[in-house]
Amino acid sequence: MREHERLYLDGAWVPSEGSGAIEVVEAATEEVMGRVPAGVPADVDRAVAAARAAFPAWSQTSVAERTEVLSEVAAGINARIDELADLVSAEVGMPRAQTPLIQVALAMVDFSNTAAALAEHSAETVVGHSLVVREPVGVVGAIAPWNFPLHQVAAKVAPALATGCTVVLKPSEQAPLTAFVLFDILDGLLPPGVCNLVTGAGPAVGRALVAHPDVDMVSFTGSTPTGRQVAADAAPTVKRVALELGGKSANLILDDADLERAVTDGVGKCYLNAGQACQALTRMLVPSERLAEAEEIAVAAAAIYEPGDPFAPDTLMGPLVSSAQRSRVRDDILRATSEGARLLTGGVEAPEHLDRGYYVRPTVFSEVTSGMAVAREEIFGPVLALMAHDGDDHAVALANDSIYGLAGGVWSSDPDRALSVARRLRCGQVELNGAIFNPEAPFGGYRQSGNGRELGRAGLDEYLETKAIQR
Ligand code: NAD
Repeated sequence: MREHERLYLDGAWVPSEGSGAIEVVEAATEEVMGRVPAGVPADVDRAVAAARAAFPAWSQTSVAERTEVLSEVAAGINARIDELADLVSAEVGMPRAQTPLIQVALAMVDFSNTAAALAEHSAETVVGHSLVVREPVGVVGAIAPWNFPLHQVAAKVAPALATGCTVVLKPSEQAPLTAFVLFDILDGLLPPGVCNLVTGAGPAVGRALVAHPDVDMVSFTGSTPTGRQVAADAAPTVKRVALELGGKSANLILDDADLERAVTDGVGKCYLNAGQACQALTRMLVPSERLAEAEEIAVAAAAIYEPGDPFAPDTLMGPLVSSAQRSRVRDDILRATSEGARLLTGGVEAPEHLDRGYYVRPTVFSEVTSGMAVAREEIFGPVLALMAHDGDDHAVALANDSIYGLAGGVWSSDPDRALSVARRLRCGQVELNGAIFNPEAPFGGYRQSGNGRELGRAGLDEYLETKAIQR
């Protein structure tokens, strides 16, 4: 049980101005595993004031000084990798065998990669008689979701600190515990006020942060509906807004692909973190003449993801994060069936061998068409939609027929063909033939998957203003 009664403001652990607490529930047991303060807008005011006061000095620190801090944070995360992995697996439900690498090491790499990118980043260029300088944008309000709770915090905090910005972080109220470990690591490494932690509900703390006139930029990761609200709330103060939102990403399997490999890999990509990954490849586009074959392979592959206790060593898929999330996913499964999609495996019934925990069975639909909600809306659960295509042009048209544009996959035995199809996809990330994630590459979406890019050098640019000085 983790009981946190304090927020981290102005370099110290202090009580909230409010008196409420938020319970953190373990996904697999449905038991309360922690409590954090339910912050209030007055806490945001204090945090922003501290960040504002710390900005002039922090923004003037040297690159070497900030690089050193980032490296120390990375080392601090590494030293606590088991503790952090336990917390993420309990809060979110990702199998414990996966969290050290996929959740915690990724966050560590966010800090070390940012340190490396900062060392190479050029803050000044010359354009004719102008000196063009890049400067930190100011006070950053960072708002994170629950599915990769530490990584998504790190993907904001690392570049913000690296560029000389100061930060007020609001982690997800559903998975806030790793943020307390991170601030334990930051405590003592940073001057007071440079990085502040306010936990609480989105409508209370998140909205206050977004609307705050002394916040210069909001970096938000979460759902597209909340992202729209964030953009609207930020508009009156015309602050910079970076949005990393939802997706309905397509995996295009071309007619010359190794079908067995492509479908098996694609099922795994869809079910990572029980489908709670923004870049999950949830639409699998298969040549129509091979749909029956793909269905068979997908059903066999899905069977491997039998849900189970995230702390059992052989579990490949754990529960969803919460009861509310499970209800949403079940409703989406029912809707897909009522729309005429053919259920091949899975469904709304709870797995027979599990009497508690927010589990959903690995689910595959086929004969999905582009008008169905299961093809259009983000589900954020282990639900794969198989769709038939009649060639590359049709596959590209289906893939791009979405309000989203976060990620995509292309499978072909011809690398040039795969690349030329990838170039036609309207999304921010494409993996060819199952290529692995690159944490240094720009990450972000087209269309309603957001704007801006995180990670590596591109992540630094988000937090910089540009000034032209004519001489
Ligand atoms: P969410 O939108 O419900 O919440 C995200 C965060 O915003 C939380 O901290 C929440 O408290 C806060 N919030 C809620 N309402 C707010 C408001 N009105 N103003 C300010 N803050 C508010 O999202 P979630 O359910 O936590 O996360 C899942 C979603 O995140 C999915 O849609 C997923 O695709 C998306 N996501 C996107 C990326 C990406 O990089 N594109 C990465 C991970 C998750």
